[in-house]
Amino acid sequence: MKIAVLPGDGIGTEIVAEAVKVLNVLELPLELEEAVVGGAAYAAQGHPLPDSTLQLAKDADAVLFGAVGDWQYDKLERSLRPEQAILGLRKHLGLFANLRPALCYEQLTHASSLKPELVAGLDILIIRELTGDIYFGQPRGRRTAVDGHFPGAEEAFDTMRYSRPEIERIAHVAFQAARRRGKKVTSVDKANVLETFQFWKDVVTEVHAQYPDVELEHMYVDNAAMQLVKAPKKFDVVVTGNMFGDILSDEAAMLTGSIGMLPSASLDANNKGLYEPSHGSAPDIAGKGVANPLATILSAAMMLRYTLAQPEAADRIESAVRAVLAAGLRTPDIYSDGTRKVGTREMGDAVVAAITGKTITG
Ligand code: NAD
Repeated sequence: MKIAVLPGDGIGTEIVAEAVKVLNVLELPLELEEAVVGGAAYAAQGHPLPDSTLQLAKDADAVLFGAVGDWQYDKLERSLRPEQAILGLRKHLGLFANLRPALCYEQLTHASSLKPELVAGLDILIIRELTGDIYFGQPRGRRTAVDGHFPGAEEAFDTMRYSRPEIERIAHVAFQAARRRGKKVTSVDKANVLETFQFWKDVVTEVHAQYPDVELEHMYVDNAAMQLVKAPKKFDVVVTGNMFGDILSDEAAMLTGSIGMLPSASLDANNKGLYEPSHGSAPDIAGKGVANPLATILSAAMMLRYTLAQPEAADRIESAVRAVLAAGLRTPDIYSDGTRKVGTREMGDAVVAAITGKTITG
């Protein structure tokens, strides 16, 4: 099993090093190869996604990604900015399904902005379509209006569109994920107003016929935004389009309190995937040894579960993370009174200790 390891910028190198440490103690036949990406790649090779890095990612079974972005590159022309690397990888690898679990650990319920009883035991999976919708639809642009409320005025426009195969493949990802979990899918749309999402609803309903063991409900996006903060535990798998998913996945992330705890996966049609924490490169804390590596370590667990078909190894990592939290270890972002503050490396070492059955000392 070949894994391309792309640490990137900022805290990317620190947190990916801990995830690699964890993967290495699992005694699996993993072949890890590292390459530069983002600002680090621009500095070394003049492009945020060099051909050699892209080729490594294409040849690998899965990609473990840290984060990209640094203020020093903000003045570069758009095509050379670090963030273009992630867009390029999504495009070239055909990553159309973004999976973001929002899981609230018992010990961290206080970190949520909701009341503990609403989030204790929360375990939902947001599946966002990643390559279509109004973010990519053509035509788009600015022009002089010929009709509408103000003919002759300057206006801007975008195009919302989804094709049948795009909806079918993301629906399959959702129903198959639900089969491994609580067997319920909530498809979020705006079918009452948008033609595109009436079509989305119709196609998801058709695909559902192949999954009679999974419950399907439809929900308008405005209601979904409300229900996520009112009764988030009602959800199991949520599937939606690119724009609604962009917004709802961030909302769901905040239910758990800490961005440093949230993994993510972006999958292609064959379950090959890019795995990364949901957060960015955090330049404000880079190099200080205080970043929380757990989102990246949990991303490695997702990689074992979804792409490498090693669910037991994924379970071992996830149980180790629970054990470390139960032992009271916390990086500063999740620290509270009565727990023990540790750095990035100590947190990684503690997860390794938990996996290998050693005492968790931090
Ligand atoms: P960010 O997620 O990097 O940081 C937001 C806040 O959360 C910061 O205060 C940061 O210190 C904190 N934080 C993030 N991850 C943490 C961790 N693991 N442990 C502890 N604290 C953590 O978002 P930002 O500040 O808006 O963006 C910084 C850079 O990251 C920008 O250049 C942005 O473009 C880039 N970015 C990259 C990705 C990606 O690589 N996929 C995603 C989002 C942002």
